[in-house]
This record gives sequence, structure tokens and C-alpha cells, in this order.
Amino acid sequence: RKLVDKNAATAGQKAPSKNHADPPPPLVPEPEDGGERYAIGQFLGKGGFAVCYEGTLARNGRVYAMKVVKSQMPQKKMEEKVKIYAKMPKKSPLKVCLFKFRTELQIHSKMRHPFIVQFYRAFAFEQSTYVVLELCPNGSVMDMVRKRRHLSLPEVRRFMIQLCAAVKYLHKRFVAHRDLKMGNLFLDHNMNIKVGDFGLAAMILSDKDAKRRNTLCGTPNYIAPEVLDKSKGGHTQKVDIWSLGVICFAMLTGYPPFQSKTQEEIYKKVRSLTYVWPKDSENHNHIPEEAKDLVSACLNLVDEERPDPDDIVEHPFFNMYDGCIPRQLDPSCRFNKPLWL
Ligand code: ADP
Repeated sequence: RKLVDKNAATAGQKAPSKNHADPPPPLVPEPEDGGERYAIGQFLGKGGFAVCYEGTLARNGRVYAMKVVKSQMPQKKMEEKVKIYAKMPKKSPLKVCLFKFRTELQIHSKMRHPFIVQFYRAFAFEQSTYVVLELCPNGSVMDMVRKRRHLSLPEVRRFMIQLCAAVKYLHKRFVAHRDLKMGNLFLDHNMNIKVGDFGLAAMILSDKDAKRRNTLCGTPNYIAPEVLDKSKGGHTQKVDIWSLGVICFAMLTGYPPFQSKTQEEIYKKVRSLTYVWPKDSENHNHIPEEAKDLVSACLNLVDEERPDPDDIVEHPFFNMYDGCIPRQLDPSCRFNKPLWL
């Protein structure tokens, strides 16, 4: 079985596209007088529209991740961008992306949490917008699961607890991430989860008017059923809880529950809640009933019935007789199963 996670699977391997920004110069200055300068270093990865490099702050040698996005109107203000967007032909993916990028920056810049990639600043230089972010040097959970095939129960517990803390923080501030997947869970120096890529995030403002949204978003494998079915009136922050169920399943087994060859087949399986746990004999991977029960609580077709992050961390999976939760993880566990002492 193959592990599919669209962005991460192709990150760094895609041919340069006309939607990506040109490679940055060796030294990138912030526009205002006396602003900081960043020495551009190693290439870190590439997403749909962003290219990411290491950037060293010239003043003190601190290293950040610099996300670079092509901006067509570098010196114009955001309001002008919106006006221009309104006049643009509807199907231009770059224009749609610029518009979404604005929301991404607005939301991400307001977030501050130990398990969310820290946003520092964004500025325009030449034809690109640069976003200065906390550097996550240990790749993503997706890379780790690929190398390891599946993770051990203590690791899954640790990552799920950190993820729940981040999601609780977001939901409390009326933000739905809407694209939680292993490729967007980056890992810092200490192998802590850092939720990143707020490209599809949205503010869910009140129960009546803004609670339910109707945009099709998310990566097919992680998408919640109510997002597929517009007649159900849209979706709420509970889409993130569905994704937590998919992520938990994928960390335990090495593949997402609704994996299929085509998007239609994935959607069919999602709507009918068709997923199968591997046999214990497969890969000698015993998955306890408690873990299966937690995943099934998150993968509930009725969004209101899905647990909140607070309920999830109280689940017996985290409190089993041998349910240890490691305080620390060594970066070597990106490649090898840790030996628990
Ligand atoms: P997009 O918004 O286009 O999907 P991403 O935010 O996923 O772009 O970033 C693209 C790639 O850049 C990621 O897959 C990852 O390899 C790298 N990257 C992004 N943010 C960071 C970070 N904070 N630290 C290290 N690498 C990062």
C-alpha cells in the first residue's frame, strides 16, 4: 500500500512551474530603511505555490524558514490586491492563490502556540512575497512515516496530544485549519509537532452566518464527508477532527484509511465510511482496540458527534496499562524505531 499525501509526496521534486517565484537573490532585504537582511541558504521544499529556503538573519545569525511566493503586485497594499482580484478572469489559479495567500497571512500571523509554526513577518521584495517562519529542520510527520512505514504507539500518542493542543488553540480562536494532514505537520529541533501551511484556513465567526462554509477544500485523503456534500449546508471546525482521525490511522498503519486510486473512489469510501484496519500479522503491527476506537470516534459521519480536542486527550488510548507517552523524542526516530528503555 502506498502512502499518499499530495503536497508532501511531490514537495521538492516537482519541476519548477510558472506559478512559483523565481529563485531569490543571495541577500534579501526588508523594504523599509534599516530593515533586516536575510542570507538565503539551503532549499527546504516546494508546495503548490510556495518555495521554501533557509534564511539567516544577517544581524545575529538566527536561522528561519523563508517561504517565497510570487507576487505580481509587490508594492501594492492588500486592499488594492483585492480590488484587482475582483476584476480578474475567474479561472486564473495564480490569482486565486494570491487571494488565498492573503487570508493565510492574516490568519497565520495572529497565531502563537508552541505546536504551531511561528510566523514572524512577511514583506515584499522585487517580484516575490517573503514569509519569515520558524524553521522546522526535521521534515514532516509524512516524511517520518514514509521512512518508518508506521510509528510506534508512544510516538503516535505524543504527536496526537500535541496536535490536539494546537487544534484546541485554533478552534478557540474561531479558526478552522481545514488542511490538517501529515505533510503539514512539521517537526522542530526537539521533534515537537508544528502545524503549518494555513493556506486553506478560515475564520468561522458565528454559529449562524459564518459557521457553515461551502468551499471545497482539503486534500482528498483527509477530506471530511460534509465537505463533499454541499446539500448538508457546509462544514464547521469539526472537519479538523475528521482529519485528526485520518492522521491517527495513517501514523498507526502507514497509509490513510480511505486511500484509493481515484478521487471518486476516495470520496465514495469517505461517504460510506469504508475503511479496513490491517491484520495484526501484517508488518507485525499490533494496533490496540483503544486506538481503533479513538479513530472511529473522530471518523464519525455526523460532525457534531465528533469529539473535541479535550475529549480526545481523555480517551483510554492515552491511558492504557502500557500507554507511555515519551517526554522527549530523539531526531534519529525519523529513520529508526526508538528503543524504549
Ligand atoms: P504551500 O503553501 O505551497 O503548500 P508549504 O507551506 O507546504 O507550501 O511549504 C512547502 C514546503 O516547504 C514544505 O513541504 C516543506 O518542505 C517546506 N517548509 C515549509 N515551511 C517550513 C518550515 N517552517 N520549516 C522547514 N521547512 C518548511
